[in-house]
Amino acid sequence: MEKREQLYAGKAKSVYTTDDSKVLILYFRNDTSAFDGKKIEQLDRKGQVNNQFNAYIMGQLEAAGIETHFIQQLNAQESLVKRLTMIPLECVVRNITAGSICRRLGIEEGMDLNPPTFEFFLKNDALGDPMVNEYHIHSFGWAQAEHVEKMKALTFKVNDVLKNLFAQGNMLLVDYKLEFGLYEDRIILGDEFTPDGCRLWDMETRMKLDKDRFRQGLGGVVEAYEEVGHRLGINFL
Ligand code: ADP
Ligand code: UDP
Repeated sequence: MEKREQLYAGKAKSVYTTDDSKVLILYFRNDTSAFDGKKIEQLDRKGQVNNQFNAYIMGQLEAAGIETHFIQQLNAQESLVKRLTMIPLECVVRNITAGSICRRLGIEEGMDLNPPTFEFFLKNDALGDPMVNEYHIHSFGWAQAEHVEKMKALTFKVNDVLKNLFAQGNMLLVDYKLEFGLYEDRIILGDEFTPDGCRLWDMETRMKLDKDRFRQGLGGVVEAYEEVGHRLGINFL
């Protein structure tokens, strides 16, 4: 597989074309951002930890019957994926309150949500990724109705699989964000699943093991991501 030109550089990953027009390379950088890119730092080893973490989770999701864009890990910081036409929406499921829902609704952190709740956000950095509803999605044509249903169903299926997986490592999956795209007219899971895009707490102490350590300046960010990986049985390079 030959790497060609850079297609896109996001806040944490860069995307490259290859000699196969249906295949892209995702390069996981050490850049870590929060607050819509207002706080940015380079964290040593984060790119390689997230690349390997993502490869493991995507494998677990595939094994559970959830189609993903992931093809294979190439090296420490790169993976090969199917090129998708991304839907410009973020799908968030919350099992426990934290983050923006607490600020928005004036709710304390740490409340169990039964049933878990679901939110759509528009992927738009300039607007700070505003929350949108299904009427907005339909009226503005961001996704077709059947694709919206599929994204919701797949996001909840991921919840069933990953809540169990993290529970086996004595962790609570508090919330997470997924992105989907179209591949040959099918909605499949794209982007990444790493502690950059979810919240994970130790089940007993509720210690934060995710990007909130960076957002809140708690330190030990990459060490916490590695701890999560070790609890899942990942042996980092
Ligand atoms: P952001 O764009 O939010 O700053 P990243 O730094 O993670 O995020 O950049 C990765 C970009 O690549 C995102 O815009 C994401 O939607 C896009 N992407 C992820 N997977 C694929 C894929 N399989 N095909 C095309 N684009 C993808
Ligand atoms: N999230 C993300 N990218 C975003 C926004 C949110 O990965 O652009 C993740 C975030 O890490 C958390 C979940 O989605 O696991 C819900 O985020 P929330 O809406 O609470 O926003 P935050 O407090 O992180 O700004």
